[in-house]
Amino acid sequence: MPESQLTLEQLCVAKRLRMTEQRRVVARVLEASKDHPDVEELYHRALKVDPKISISTVYRTVKLFEDLEIIARHDFREGRARYETIPEEHHDHLIDLKSGRVIEFRNARIEALQEEIARELGFKLIDHRLELYAVPIPEDPE
Ligand SMILES: [Zn+2]
Repeated sequence: MPESQLTLEQLCVAKRLRMTEQRRVVARVLEASKDHPDVEELYHRALKVDPKISISTVYRTVKLFEDLEIIARHDFREGRARYETIPEEHHDHLIDLKSGRVIEFRNARIEALQEEIARELGFKLIDHRLELYAVPIPEDPE
């Protein structure tokens, strides 16, 4: 998908969103994030770029990007939304319930199986979300 290769700022322009300096800051911070930050974390990162930015600006900007469907919102059952830019290649998530760490993965068998299930039910699969909630396996005591 060529659209996903555009930066968040370019996507904003393509969606004819008026870009203020603070919206640019939020876009850049999101773009630079390789994890799945929540609004609070994005706010702390944005503060390092613009010490005058407020958490409500960050919140509203993220909501705006979400409504324009140029970022992905995740609810990993923690009571707070987390965000990431739309990835070039689809991936799923495993959530470590112990540490809260989110691990990205892609599995060809799961992808094919989901398409097969949809097809058997008479559908063409368009999209899916898969979240695995897990705890680390304790190491065997020696
Ligand atoms: Zn992800």
